[in-house]
Amino acid sequence: MAANPIQVVPLRTEAAAPVGTPKLTYRGGPLLASVQVFLFFWGDAWSQDPLPQVVSQLNGFFDFVLTSPLMDQLAEYSVSGFTIGHGARTGSLALTTAPPASVTDADIQSLIQQEIASDSAVPKPSPSSLYFVFLPPGVSVSMSGGASCTTFCGYHSDINSQVFYAVMPYPDCQGCAGSLAVVDALTSTSSHELCEAVTDPVPGQGWYDDANGEIGDICAWQTKKLGAYTVQLEWSNSAGKCV
Ligand SMILES: [Zn+2]
Repeated sequence: MAANPIQVVPLRTEAAAPVGTPKLTYRGGPLLASVQVFLFFWGDAWSQDPLPQVVSQLNGFFDFVLTSPLMDQLAEYSVSGFTIGHGARTGSLALTTAPPASVTDADIQSLIQQEIASDSAVPKPSPSSLYFVFLPPGVSVSMSGGASCTTFCGYHSDINSQVFYAVMPYPDCQGCAGSLAVVDALTSTSSHELCEAVTDPVPGQGWYDDANGEIGDICAWQTKKLGAYTVQLEWSNSAGKCV
């Protein structure tokens, strides 16, 4: 396991060229074989115009992408016991409690655990579950000494190697949107973290490259159009390039 595995989407301006020839190697940990994604939209702001439209676009994005060629291309990283294939969006939920202007990773973990424990609308974690938490405009999240829009644009992590989640701050800053529309920035970072959570759900214990990080880090902010959506390229060991 890498000592401090990379688990974030870097700022657009800090996406670096890979060191040497990237190669992900498998470290023996779990993978998300048929990922079951549940979305949390935290904060009342998501119910105020124009954000409901973003919510609906993100729901549509996950419905599409989880059965798309983006999942098919991850099949090369299947290992004994974990055959990577199509997934599904199991639902989404607006949480009307207002997050403070800055939240910590611990706050995110508490929220997910409370929701799982207390809300029957939230599926219980399975070995393939992945919870996405989308933050509203104006709310930053800090994790491992960094913060959204300052040092990163999103990340994924785990709770005790059992509950897997990704955090998507609102890209209301130049570093995380640049010339991209908000929805395109969000689908790009979401695809980055989705592919990383599938192939490396416990950061550094799945498919990882000690010099370059996880599958999406090697290709950070290189995007393509898939269907109607902007997604990020991902590293392919078999192709030897970002695809
Ligand atoms: Zn990453």
